Order: sequence, then C-alpha cells, then structure tokens
Amino acid sequence: MVIGAGIVGAAVADRLAAGGGEVTVIDSGPPGAGTSRSSMAWVNAHNKQPRHYFELNRAGMRAHARLAEELGGDWYHPADTMQWAPDSDPAGMAHVEATVTRLREWGQSARWLTREEALEMEPALALPTEVRSVALFEDEALVDGEPLARLLVERARERGAVVRTGPEYEAVGIDTEGGRARGVRLAGGGRLPADVVVCCAGWRTPAVAALAGASAPLVPGEEPGTEAPTLLASIVPAPGAMPMDRMILGPDLHARPLPGGRVYLEGLDLEVDAHTSAEVIERYSQELLERARRTLPGVAEGAELEEGRVCVRPLPLDGYPLIGGHAHEGIEGFYTVVMHSGITLALHVADLVTRELLNGEDAEELAPYRPARCTA
Ligand SMILES: Cc1cc2nc3c(=O)[nH]c(=O)nc-3n(C[C@H](O)[C@H](O)[C@H](O)COP(=O)(O)OP(=O)(O)OC[C@H]3O[C@@H](n4cnc5c(N)ncnc54)[C@H](O)[C@@H]3O)c2cc1C
Repeated sequence: MVIGAGIVGAAVADRLAAGGGEVTVIDSGPPGAGTSRSSMAWVNAHNKQPRHYFELNRAGMRAHARLAEELGGDWYHPADTMQWAPDSDPAGMAHVEATVTRLREWGQSARWLTREEALEMEPALALPTEVRSVALFEDEALVDGEPLARLLVERARERGAVVRTGPEYEAVGIDTEGGRARGVRLAGGGRLPADVVVCCAGWRTPAVAALAGASAPLVPGEEPGTEAPTLLASIVPAPGAMPMDRMILGPDLHARPLPGGRVYLEGLDLEVDAHTSAEVIERYSQELLERARRTLPGVAEGAELEEGRVCVRPLPLDGYPLIGGHAHEGIEGFYTVVMHSGITLALHVADLVTRELLNGEDAEELAPYRPARCTA
C-alpha cells in the first residue's frame, strides 16, 4: 500500500508494480496535485553535498533522462542553468565560484561565460554592468512534476496497481497488530489491508507516520515562521515575448519556464508561511514580477501575474532524505520515503526502495538517509 501519489509515491508505485508487487495507491487528491505540481522541478545536483548526496542526485538526474527515453511524453526538458552574483556581493560571488569548482572536481559540467556570451545565449536577460561573468551548469533538466506523476500512476495501473483517489481515500488511521502495520483506515470509512505501508505523503509525512506510532520529523509545514513554505508566482508573458528555456538563478530571483510559455518565479528572501495574508502574497508576487522585469525583461516586460501561492516543501530537519523502515521504533511493515529534492530523486530512489521492499536488499546508497538517525 502506497500512501500519496505525488512524484515520489507515483514513482514508488510504478516500480513496485513493475517488479510484480501487489500495489494499492491512495491519495486524498488527484495524482501529482500536491507539492509536485508547485515545484521549480529543476533536476539537478547543483548544491548537493556531501559527495554521497551529490551522487544520489546525479543518479536521480540519469534516471530522469532514462525514463524520458522509455516513457515518452512531454514532461522532460533538458536545460542548462545560469547563475551569477554581482561583484558588490562577495559572499554570493564566492558561493557561485565554489559551486563551479566543486561540480567540476566532481565530474559535472560547469563553466564560466563572459557577460557578452551570457547575453548572447539568453537574449531575454539583462545583467547589471557590474556583472562580468556568469556560471553555466549543463547536463541538467526541468521536468513537469504533475504530468509525470500522472503518467507514472497510469503506468502503475496498467501494470496491475489499484489506484484510489479523492477525499474519502485520505488515510486517517493505520492499524497495527503485534507491532506490525496491517492496514490503512480511510476518511470515507472502511479499511484497506496491507502487508507493508509505504508512506509517500510529502510534507504531511509526520502526521501520517504518527498514525502508525512512527516518527518522521520534518520542518513543520503549517506552523508560523518556519522555512518549509515558500512563495511561488507564475507569470504569463505578453504575446511576442522572447522564449526562455533554461533555469535562471539570479541574486534575488529564481525563474524557470513552464509549458505554454508561462514562467515560475521564486525569491527565497520573501518569507511566507501558511498564515500569510492574501494581501502580502499579492504584494510579494508583484515584487517578484518587478524583479523579473529587471532580470528577464525579454520575458517579463508586459507580462501579467497569473497567480502567487504558498507551497510547502517536504523539508527533513537536517535537509537529507528520510527513507526506510521504522523497526528501530518497534514498528514493522511501515516504510517512509520523503525528501526535499523529491523531483530530482524520486525515480532513482523508487528503484532502490523497490529492491529493498521486494527483494529484501539493503541498499548501501540509502544508508545515510535512514529515519533511525532522527531518534538516535
Ligand atoms: C517552490 C518549490 C520549489 C521546488 N524546487 C525543486 C527543485 O527545483 N528540484 C527538486 O528536486 N525539488 C524541488 N522542490 C521539492 C519537490 O517539489 C518535492 O520534494 C516533491 O514534489 C515532493 O513530492 P512528494 O511526492 O513527496 O509530495 P507531494 O507531491 O506533496 O505528494 C504527496 C501526496 O500525498 C498525499 N497525501 C498526504 N497525506 C495523505 C493522507 N493522509 N492520505 C492520503 N493521501 C495523502 C497528498 O495529497 C499528495 O498528493 C520544490 C518544492 C517547492 C515547493
């Protein structure tokens, strides 16, 4: 039984079904409509440290490229990333330089463009005159999280998985017997039996784990003032605006293109939480649009704000994934899969999780990420 049909649960269900597992997936909403829908969904190993975490993310990047070949569809967009900091921000500059150096040492493409080269490559961009060079990171990708989750759920269904979605399929209880999870109780009444419950509930994972008496702590998504929520604004460029097809990491703005020419904007300094008023969300969203007009005038001049919304990241307390069982808490048959870079990691992690659950393997790559570290 898989709880959650976001990118993570969809990938896990797909792999389990492909491996011959008897799978039921439940979600209180449509597949992919949670955080996976509201994500920059930049598939990268950019700022991932230490080395084992970088390699896990690199494997995640390769898994996306493989699946794009295998599955087809229009959800995968190979793309590079531009990043810079002005000379007046020595700390920002040092960060970009360190990233380029580290990624090169670790075998990933990263190089410097002159200001002129960057502007030629991305004509929609405007750079302040003090910016003399821009870092370019290649071999990355942008994906569309919601359509990908839907495709994976559909493929799992074709492979025999039972898929149940809607408010009545919210998991509201987990039955345990003799220290083992045996089934899931549903909001709509009734109970679904399970040999193993795999919790892929994104930022709601702590609440679902608690139903089994397990602990999977994340930065709280709903408490005031926490860093899990973030503001994501989307804009619709004016007709005839320049196309943009790469990830942009400017000093005060992150931007990524979306299907149909829309663009997602994020500014990590604009703090929001689940209680931020609609008025502040509107003001911050307009601020992001203003920043986009300065940074990406070719795209954002004349653009309209489509929507600004607060989205919640599944953010483990130490930033690293929580993947594994809860035998350390005396609970068998309950397995957690939650991570911050869930889009990048979902496919590769789903492979490893499936080998653990179906073949009883102990994936060495997952050793640093066991939930047991949170209760140690
Ligand atoms: C603004 C933003 C930018 C991001 N940028 C990136 C990025 O560039 N690269 C990257 O790799 N990651 C990025 N992330 C993170 C990434 O989007 C998430 O890690 C990923 O989408 C999480 O997927 P998930 O399947 O775990 O969660 P979700 O997509 O939220 O899916 C969880 C599902 O569980 C269901 N559920 C929850 N509780 C229950 C219950 N009790 N019963 C039944 N169903 C339940 C929900 O309805 C939901 O559909 C970003 C996130 C945000 C918010």
